[in-house]
Amino acid sequence: MPTEAFAPAKVNLALHVTGRRDDGYHLLDSLVAFADIGDRIAVAHAPETRLTVTGPRAGGVPADARNLCWRAAELHGTHAHITLEKHLPAAAGIGGGSSDAAATLRALEALTGRGTDFDPLVLGADLPVCLYARAARMQGIGEALTPLDLPPLPAVLVNPGVEVPTGPVFAALPSRENPPMTDMPVARDRQTFLGWLAAQRNDLQAPAIGLQPVIAQVIDALRDADLARMSGSGATCFGLYPVQGAAERAAGRIAARHPGWWTAACTLG
Ligand code: ATP
Repeated sequence: MPTEAFAPAKVNLALHVTGRRDDGYHLLDSLVAFADIGDRIAVAHAPETRLTVTGPRAGGVPADARNLCWRAAELHGTHAHITLEKHLPAAAGIGGGSSDAAATLRALEALTGRGTDFDPLVLGADLPVCLYARAARMQGIGEALTPLDLPPLPAVLVNPGVEVPTGPVFAALPSRENPPMTDMPVARDRQTFLGWLAAQRNDLQAPAIGLQPVIAQVIDALRDADLARMSGSGATCFGLYPVQGAAERAAGRIAARHPGWWTAACTLG
C-alpha cells in the first residue's frame, strides 16, 4: 500500500525583500498561506529511487534527480517509488517543487517512521514553511517561522502560462533593502485583515511585470477582487473574494475569457 500526502499550493499573500546576506541569500519577510488545491504524492518502498509524474500538469516536469521530490527522498535516505500527481503549474511562484518535496518527506516519515534529520533549507527557502504547511510569517532566509491564524480566504489563482525564473526577477529588483511588513493587527476579522494586507507588498511584482508584462493583465483580470497581487516570483497571481461563490464565478469568467491561462478557485488559510 503506498503512503500518500497532499502538497498544497503555497501563496505569498505578501513578500517583502528586506536585504541580502554576504553569502547572496535574500532576506525575506513574507506572509505565507496554503490552498486547499495542490499536487498529490504517493511513496512506496522500492529497490532504488524512482519517480513517476502523472496528472494534468505533468508536462515538462522532470522525473529524475532534478525533481525536488527525488532530492528529498535521497536526503531522507530512503529508496522509494514516488508518484507525483501534478495539478499545479510549475515554475509559477506557488511553491510547486517545494511543496512536493515537503509532502514527499511527510509521506516518507509515515512510511518509515523516520523524520527529517537534515536542514530543509538545502532544498530551498520555501521548504521549512512547506513542511509546516499552515499559514505563517516567514522571515530570515526562510527558516524563521511564526504561526498565524488567518480567516479562511476564498480566492482565485491565475497563471498566464509564462514561466518566470526566480533569479532574473531578484536581479531586476531596484532595491534589495525594503521595509519589512508592519505587524499584523491582533483583531483577525476579515475587514481589519484585508485593510492591513492591502498596505503590504510583493516587492517582486514590479520586476516580474517588467520581465513578463502579461502579469499586469492577470492582475487586471482580477480587478473585481477585494485584493489582487502576485505570489512568489510569479507569474501566478491571487485575487481574494468575500465568499466562495464569488471566487468560483470570477474563476469561471476569467477561464472563459482566457482559455489558455490556468485558473482555479480555492480557499487559502
Ligand atoms: P517558488 O514558489 O518556491 O518560487 P515555483 O512554484 O516558482 O517555486 P517550481 O514549481 O518549484 O517553482 O518549479 C521550478 C523549477 O523546478 C521548474 O522549472 C522545474 O523544472 C523544477 N522542478 C523540480 N521539482 C519540481 C516539481 N516537483 N514540480 C515542478 N517543478 C519542479
